[in-house]
Amino acid sequence: MEGRIQAVRGMKDILPGEVETWQAVEALARKILEIYGFSEIRIPLLERTELFARSIGEATDIVEKEMYTFRDRSDISVTLRPEATAGILRAYIQHGLYRTQPFQKFYCIGPMFRYERPQKGRYRQFHQIDAEILGSPDPRCDAELLAMLRTLFEGMGLRELDFQINSLGCRSCRPSFKEAILSFLRDRETRLCEDCRRRLQINPLRIFDCKVPQCQENLRGAPQTLEHLCGPCRDHLESLERHLNSLEIPYTVNSLIVRGLDYYTRTIFEVISSDLGAQNAVCGGGRYDNLIEELGGPDMPAIGFAIGEERLVSLLLEGGRQRSRPPLDLFVVAVDARAESEAFLWLDRARRLGLRAETDLRGGSLKSQLRRAHKLSARRVLILGERELHQRRALLKAMDSGEQEEVPLDRLEAQMAEWVQGLREEK
Ligand code: ATP
Ligand code: MG
Repeated sequence: MEGRIQAVRGMKDILPGEVETWQAVEALARKILEIYGFSEIRIPLLERTELFARSIGEATDIVEKEMYTFRDRSDISVTLRPEATAGILRAYIQHGLYRTQPFQKFYCIGPMFRYERPQKGRYRQFHQIDAEILGSPDPRCDAELLAMLRTLFEGMGLRELDFQINSLGCRSCRPSFKEAILSFLRDRETRLCEDCRRRLQINPLRIFDCKVPQCQENLRGAPQTLEHLCGPCRDHLESLERHLNSLEIPYTVNSLIVRGLDYYTRTIFEVISSDLGAQNAVCGGGRYDNLIEELGGPDMPAIGFAIGEERLVSLLLEGGRQRSRPPLDLFVVAVDARAESEAFLWLDRARRLGLRAETDLRGGSLKSQLRRAHKLSARRVLILGERELHQRRALLKAMDSGEQEEVPLDRLEAQMAEWVQGLREEK
């Protein structure tokens, strides 16, 4: 026998105990996304490599060094999706969804893959909650996404989050900004890291994203995107700010955020938590007004965001907001083998009515079964033995008060239905 097989580096199991918090996050996210009018879209985990190279950009960290790319058995280069936007747009274009309904709102929840150095808040398989609004340049779209994020985070009890926005300009004003950056960095070039020197040639904006302290230092006093916005881009940002103010969404304008993907135009934003350490962004997003066209679709503006679920869940866990499984409604005990079959029948009846019910499928003594009921925090225990069956009765015990009563079997189903009703009212 070889040794035990471990999970692939950077890939994490989400075990019972933690998974309940994930489920709660996703359930709330789905509910709020639906309230805000988003429809779910499920796209493949695997796409042709070209899709990401063309959308995310050749000179980005993701495409340069983080993608899980391989050749399949037909020698086609495929990549595990590092983000959801590209796949959603591919589907939107491929199925001609814009023809019937040019304005659409989508969401997608699931795993993403990036070959990064694993550390806290950074994994090779991680999960995102992604939302996209396709088909309108209106700054109310941008404000709506931020408003939805506020609703979602508030619903989770997270209030100490910082919404940071910036504008990257558009095709007409971005070149002048790039020019300004280039001339600012020209005589600082030798002090930049190797990566940044290369970025200077292909995509100077990326330098703002560099994590090397010396590069950050050299950026002090650098030109800012905001100073180079054209009139329409400035108006767009001002209008977004007016909407955020009227919705009373606190935000800060941070001209240093540029985001790690090439396709962004105008609004970009991040949601930051000071409780996360180095990987402090819970959510990132922005507008991509040219991307749909660049991918062969119609000329249609759009905006989206992605929440990192690992970081969101870790904020909840660290803030003592973890969820656990609700207690069992009913535990069914078969006192001996002769009552097993009848007990098994009542267990299934209870479940079909909607009660969370369990038994001990290993059998065992009355005492050990009761211990198990206790361990599972069952609210009630139904005890069936030969004597009870003979009298067509069951013994019912309320675990909190310890009270016991005998229930005739011909009334048991009605009683279970009442418990279900009670549970609905509790909710
Ligand atoms: P970072 O600066 O942390 O690398 P990013 O700009 O690469 O983030 P985006 O592509 O904007 O990240 O993805 C949106 C969100 O997804 C991030 O804010 C983060 O919460 C989460 N995320 C990104 N990469 C990872 C990863 N490797 N592991 C866990 N979460 C991640
Ligand atoms: Mg990254």
